[in-house]
Amino acid sequence: MRVTVLGLGYVGAVAAAALAHDGHDVLGVDIDRGKVERFRRGEVPFHEPGLDELVREGVSRGILRFAETGDVGPGDLGELVFVAVGTPSQPSGAADLSQVEAAMEWLTGLVQGANGMWGDAGDRPVVVMKSTVPPGTGRRLQERYLAAHGIAYVSNPEFLREGSAVHDWFHPDRVVIGSESEEAAARVRALYEGYGAPIVVTHTTTAEMIKYGANAFLATKISFINELANMCDRVGADVEVVARGIGLDPRIGPDFLRAGLGYGGSCFPKDVRALDHLALVYDYPFELLRAVIAVNSRQRLLPLFALRREFGSLAGVPVAVLGLSFKPNTDDIREAPALDLIPLLLQEGAEVRAADPRAAVRARAVLPGAVRVTDSALEAVQGARALVLCTEWEEFRRLDWEDVAACMDEPRFVFDGRNALDRERLEALGFRYQGVGRGRPVGARLGVPAAAKP
Ligand code: NAD
Repeated sequence: MRVTVLGLGYVGAVAAAALAHDGHDVLGVDIDRGKVERFRRGEVPFHEPGLDELVREGVSRGILRFAETGDVGPGDLGELVFVAVGTPSQPSGAADLSQVEAAMEWLTGLVQGANGMWGDAGDRPVVVMKSTVPPGTGRRLQERYLAAHGIAYVSNPEFLREGSAVHDWFHPDRVVIGSESEEAAARVRALYEGYGAPIVVTHTTTAEMIKYGANAFLATKISFINELANMCDRVGADVEVVARGIGLDPRIGPDFLRAGLGYGGSCFPKDVRALDHLALVYDYPFELLRAVIAVNSRQRLLPLFALRREFGSLAGVPVAVLGLSFKPNTDDIREAPALDLIPLLLQEGAEVRAADPRAAVRARAVLPGAVRVTDSALEAVQGARALVLCTEWEEFRRLDWEDVAACMDEPRFVFDGRNALDRERLEALGFRYQGVGRGRPVGARLGVPAAAKP
């Protein structure tokens, strides 16, 4: 099939390269000329494991091509036009759909200029929405842009995870297809038949709600375990064991029960906020979602509270922050906990140095100049009195902690924001260790009754 993919970010680039791998003739389109040129050379402008190979394969086979939006004519459009542009948050929390609207205008502009190139509706391109858009958006886009041109619309939300996006594309848990057009839905379905995943075919708005429901539920699981972790810290229980104990119940399941600094990234925070905002617009107070958001906002500040307890004043305290991407195996720093934490540490006078194996360049561009940013953890911890682990990169788990101990100054306080480090080993090396909900109550300071201490 001929496929056009509009927007070459984490989702669009993976979709384009994967569909080319499956033998489709793919044109990847973006407004960013620099990005397009790099893709043409077979380079991926961001870090996503396995994507480079896939892009190079498609480019060398000649079935994966790239173009800037301004260079595309109506005849270049495929039978399917995937839209994978960004849908960030507005300050109100609502999804900012300006990139989606621009994409629709671009497409309808091309169709208008086609001068009867297409006969009946069956020949016209079908819009396949991969971007996450609030329930009701597809219906509105159809009415506003597409119906007049006889273009059908399919909501086909994406569930891939950055860091394992290529694997996730080829091994989806399920494929969701929402459309009011059976013929258009069938065209999209055909792309996924070989993947062996259950396919849910439904109406547009229901498909859109599935995506928001999935993200909101996963975010709820994360905030829930973090609430339990905070209680564990107070009563002297170990949340890691609690999570295992409750996760073995198949009704609950073990995934997304990792206590820590909460969720970040380009999806959960904005999608949960957008659903909350949508609820507001429909005059429905989605109380549970508000609590999920509030818990997550507080959770990323736990290291600040712990450092205050440890040092009293942070003025002049050298603090090393390890991990600037929102999770390991990506250089995506959107809504990364470290980026919220670091300015607050600076505000309290800490001397902050930060390290990330992949995201240092991107983080340097947005962090205050006072922060020394490096890709080497050992460089960051040199002379530090405290270390905060924000992202559990394998490189950080496998650090030579004897070297780290030798580099750091007393009291060598470690806040393990992802419960990823070997507490016993660190304590044996003389570190003062604090995890999230790992049963080392700070009793008296929190006013916990003596009976609750282990
Ligand atoms: P991104 O910001 O990495 O990429 C968006 C791309 O679209 C950019 O390259 C940008 O230049 C391009 N673009 C913007 N306006 C354009 C236009 N009018 N025409 C052509 N190109 C345009 O975004 P992303 O992370 O790939 O996410 C895309 C969508 O997929 C979002 O709605 C997101 O919520 C959703 N999603 C993302 C993930 C993820 O893990 N990143 C997972 C599932 C769903």
